[in-house]
Amino acid sequence: MLELLTERFNKAFSKVEKGKKLTEKQINDFLREIRSALLESDADYEVVKTFLKRVREEALKEDLTKKTSPFEHLLLTVYEELVKILGESKSDLKKGTVLFVGLQGTGKTTTIGKLAKYLKEQGSKVAVSSTDIRRPAAMLQLQRLAEKIEVPYYQFEEGLSAVEIAKLASSKAKSEGVDYLLLDTAGRLHIDDELMEELKAIKDKVSPSEVLYVADAMQGQEALRVARVFHERVGLTGAILTKMDGDARGGVAFSLREALGIPIKFVGVGEKIEDIELFYPDRVAQRIMGLGDVQSLVEKAQKVIPEDEAQVIATKVMSGEFDFEDMLKQFEFIEQMGPFDKLLSMIPGLGAQLKNIKIDERMIKKKKAIIQSMTKDERRNPRIINMSRKTRIAKGSGTSISDVNKLLKEYEEMKKLMRKMKNMKGPLGIPRLPFKF
Ligand code: GDP
Ligand code: MG
Repeated sequence: MLELLTERFNKAFSKVEKGKKLTEKQINDFLREIRSALLESDADYEVVKTFLKRVREEALKEDLTKKTSPFEHLLLTVYEELVKILGESKSDLKKGTVLFVGLQGTGKTTTIGKLAKYLKEQGSKVAVSSTDIRRPAAMLQLQRLAEKIEVPYYQFEEGLSAVEIAKLASSKAKSEGVDYLLLDTAGRLHIDDELMEELKAIKDKVSPSEVLYVADAMQGQEALRVARVFHERVGLTGAILTKMDGDARGGVAFSLREALGIPIKFVGVGEKIEDIELFYPDRVAQRIMGLGDVQSLVEKAQKVIPEDEAQVIATKVMSGEFDFEDMLKQFEFIEQMGPFDKLLSMIPGLGAQLKNIKIDERMIKKKKAIIQSMTKDERRNPRIINMSRKTRIAKGSGTSISDVNKLLKEYEEMKKLMRKMKNMKGPLGIPRLPFKF
């Protein structure tokens, strides 16, 4: 996600002279690049203007503490302002009835399924229901999702109005001690008065804890324009951005918070039920700046492997000591985590480069076989792997000596990369960009 922005930000930064004090012209040139990057990603014009003004003011100020170089000062300024624009800190979901609104096809129903699963896994009691009475297929879609993730779907007799369903579902959730009732609403292809009135009536009747606008990130500025109308007519408490995978240019993520004053709470990053992530402004800012997203990576890993083990591997990865035993474990949980390329794109500096690379998951199986044919000693201390050991390993794993060599080389490279990551901490605790100063 956000690859385009990352690429363009990287390019803009790479043009800035390192070391020397930056002239006003240099800063202006840099800002022009950032401006066109943001506008191309379909960010809102006014928000971009505000952002650039703030960055410019800060960047021109001298760093009196002299702790950072002029370039680092610029880097930090952009980072800090990005975090501000994106919403400072992550925003929790208030317990109660959560209303999902938005146009048709933006991903409301899918998102409810994803979020129900997510919240259930967090230990909350969840139920779902739908007021999309004009489209029985849409109700059925949610019902199926609910069955799949084993969350109650509240169904009522036919012929009830959307408002009546909302009211009944909300009372039922309360009486059953449900933490979150996720309520689907009808969407339309365009904004229409009847829909707005219906949503307003539902809102008045059930006093939801949240009214979340589901925005399709692929729609760019149009998504923001529609959100504004929903906010004026119904009143929103937050937003969820869907379809941030694929070609989404990400400008909506950049604009929503500043333009409407509502936080982005989650992002949808794929069609599968587990493709939802909490929205962390600081991590998204890091991603945009090409700093990767180590934290999300660690969290994702923690979901499938026991916590202490995740911690051990994360520490090893960050400290640059890690052996084939760790690599094997990694392969194992990567297989459980899904698409490898998605995971790799979270590693600092790799995001933009990885855009066109597809990783062959059969390769992982092969590599696992090679590691599994090594002895414990060999896994822990790959340096002892000489020619006769290589022959044995190749035979044992049904591969060739050149396959074994390739893996050994990859291991060395991975180690190098990890060492580099470790050294990427900047003076203020944020990781350095993965290119040279
Ligand atoms: P609704 O009309 O707002 O309820 O939209 P749906 O939930 O039915 O979703 C419309 C389409 O968008 C479906 O094909 C979903 O699979 C797809 N979709 C939803 N969220 C995402 C996402 O985060 N990424 C991708 N790639 N597709 C999504
Ligand atoms: Mg729907």
